[in-house]
Amino acid sequence: MKECIFCKIVKGEIPSASLIENETVMSFLDINPVNHGHALVIPKKHVETLIEAEQAVLENCILTARQVAEAILGATGAEGFNILQNNGRCSGQVVPHLHFHVIPRWSDDGFSLGWRQGRYEDNELDSLLEDIKQRL
Ligand code: AMP
Repeated sequence: MKECIFCKIVKGEIPSASLIENETVMSFLDINPVNHGHALVIPKKHVETLIEAEQAVLENCILTARQVAEAILGATGAEGFNILQNNGRCSGQVVPHLHFHVIPRWSDDGFSLGWRQGRYEDNELDSLLEDIKQRL
């Protein structure tokens, strides 16, 4: 089986534009940035999605993402940023190793998430609400 590209980065087997790392997490610049300064934050231990990650590692990921975001804002003068995190191919996840995108944003940067504004019919919301709540 082909080894995960982000595991190879963690092991130093392929180069990355590394920003910061600590015991369980590392961050590096995305090789094909949405905007300059676009970074990724990953756990060093391979897990595919958010669901499999350990709590302490996740906490480290999100705190590192905030730290990296602040530095990117300072370095690029971005007006804001997105934290994006895809789970599964259907969601747009291409690299099957958990990662958080930190994307600097400007109001005129031409990037759009194409957010859709759906709606619920009849009692769809109530039954789904109950189903989800039962599982929490
Ligand atoms: P996703 O679609 O959420 O799986 O995003 C994967 C991201 O990883 C994409 O934005 C790629 O540009 C980025 N990527 C893939 N390979 C590398 C690499 N070797 N170094 C840095 N970023 C990478």
